[in-house]
Amino acid sequence: MDEVRSTPSHGWIEVITGSMFSGKSEELIRRLRRAQIARQKVQIFKPLIDDRFGEDQIVSHSDMRIASQNVRNSDELLRRVDDDTDVVGIDEGQFFDAGLPGACNALANRGKRVIVAGLDQDYLGRPFEPMPQLLAIAEYITKTLAICVVCGDPANHTQRLVASSDRVLVGATGMYEARCRHCFDPHLAAVEKV
Ligand code: ADP
Ligand code: ZN
Repeated sequence: MDEVRSTPSHGWIEVITGSMFSGKSEELIRRLRRAQIARQKVQIFKPLIDDRFGEDQIVSHSDMRIASQNVRNSDELLRRVDDDTDVVGIDEGQFFDAGLPGACNALANRGKRVIVAGLDQDYLGRPFEPMPQLLAIAEYITKTLAICVVCGDPANHTQRLVASSDRVLVGATGMYEARCRHCFDPHLAAVEKV
């Protein structure tokens, strides 16, 4: 890279990961807002997984919001990042393709601070690619926990409440809840309703 920068800067990757309702989006928005306040150039992306959800903002479950751009894949994300951008925020990392870790590495190597939020596990408790690969290469990792709605313990799992074997089932209210390891039941979602 022979990019010439007036102020030398070094990039790195931060990952914010945990179950649904654990505050990943809130934490991502908090970090991005602080960067904006400091007048850094911030670009924010989320994957366009379903054309019905083409809203151009990230919205947390507590209704915090920040403007974002939709991208179809990690290649498009990489192409959309401007040379003078300081901070790149990415939400719903688990819905990206396997190229996301490589794209984040390339951006960090170009001097960007890259912050990615995403689910670490799917509805069966399996690692949700490409988040494990991203965790392996990140400089900083924040694990967020929700509160188990059954017993009140720290919740590390996303409990699916409706029957579906699709890995990606974009949730409306009532389709998922946060549960701890004792109250989590991966088979609940596999039971067909009669
Ligand atoms: P994530 O991005 O991890 O899904 P959000 O940042 O969108 O989480 O939302 C976190 C917010 O969700 C909390 O501040 C709280 O208002 C709300 N919330 C709903 N259910 C729970 C729960 N079981 N435990 C903790 N927070 C919850
Ligand atoms: Zn519990």
